[in-house]
Amino acid sequence: MKTYLVTGGAGFIGSHFIRRMLYEGEVSVVNLDKLTYAGNLDSLADVSAHPHYTFCHGDIGDRALVASLLRKYRPEAVVHFAAESHVDRSIDSPRDFIQTNIVGTFELLEAVRGYWRENKEKLEGHFRFLQVSTDEVYGSLGETSYFTEDSPYAPNSPYSASKAASDHLVRAYYHTYDLPTLTTNCSNNYGPYQFPEKLIPLMILNALDGKPLPVYGDGQNVRDWLFVLDHCRALQTVIERGRVGETYNIGGHSEKSNLEVVHLLCDVLDTLLPRPDGESYRRQILFVKDRPGHDRRYAIDSAKLQTTLGWKPEETFATGLKKTVEWYLAHREWCQRVTDGSYRRERLGLREFA
Ligand code: NAD
Repeated sequence: MKTYLVTGGAGFIGSHFIRRMLYEGEVSVVNLDKLTYAGNLDSLADVSAHPHYTFCHGDIGDRALVASLLRKYRPEAVVHFAAESHVDRSIDSPRDFIQTNIVGTFELLEAVRGYWRENKEKLEGHFRFLQVSTDEVYGSLGETSYFTEDSPYAPNSPYSASKAASDHLVRAYYHTYDLPTLTTNCSNNYGPYQFPEKLIPLMILNALDGKPLPVYGDGQNVRDWLFVLDHCRALQTVIERGRVGETYNIGGHSEKSNLEVVHLLCDVLDTLLPRPDGESYRRQILFVKDRPGHDRRYAIDSAKLQTTLGWKPEETFATGLKKTVEWYLAHREWCQRVTDGSYRRERLGLREFA
């Protein structure tokens, strides 16, 4: 059985990826996570006692810790999710983004380089380092074109700049040290277990609480949306069959303006849980001052991944959104523990690495 070292696995996408690997990939997983505000062990409560799952509470920037994990578990892949990931937070306070996304990735790469150098004969042809990145590194698009793997990097927020820097480090470790790296750049994810600071869960919870649904500017900023499990299947495909040294764009071909997303979300809620007064949730929409440096449009061309590795998304935005809203309605306790902060005070299934 293969072993993967997953960083940031207590976050939104990482927790889905771990569940998938344990139950469908037949892979042992070691999850290294610092448990920042975005790390939530509640999201992994169902796998915490799985015999092939190990949790390690720690920082990717702790090179000695990462080296000891690599020596102990000898993984065939390192899947690097750990990051500060929220654009608004990066505008208010960029330091943590520089520290984790750039310096942390550098320390992680150094530890992995040592492991690779010492075990090259055994690992050659079997080992992969996957950098999980974002389409935001490409900057803002005009009305029509799409980001391809050849699009130049032009990040506009401290978040996207820090992810761009880490992508460049990963690229440099491939070219300079022959480290077998792969990079994926994915569009906006949505789905169960997403922290309610992000657009879709924030809107769902505000709608249910009768609060305003804040939409930036004129609501016409366009994003491409991908259901999180489609992203995880794409990552698995790239690890298993991707060409080392390559970059793959991942997207849902599902471009929506923020206002369209909120309208569709209100429509789903109107059907599943009508407001007591019979009005649409759309009446809670409130336009607020735009975020600085707000990119106008992102759209991903994922033709390379689709044609060379045969991946394509299974969910449409309509089916994925319905599943997401249903999940939030059925998991009010998960939401409650996030909003009242108890997910950080009593951590389910926290077992320290010994
Ligand atoms: P998230 O914020 O939900 O989770 C990040 C996780 O990383 C958390 O569990 C956090 O505790 C952990 N972490 C943070 N700093 C750490 C450190 N120094 N050491 C160890 N762990 C640390 O993020 P997400 O939305 O799941 O995104 C995961 C990755 O995917 C990120 O790298 C992000 O850039 C990328 N990505 C996200 C999206 C999206 O729409 N969410 C889209 C494309 C790419």
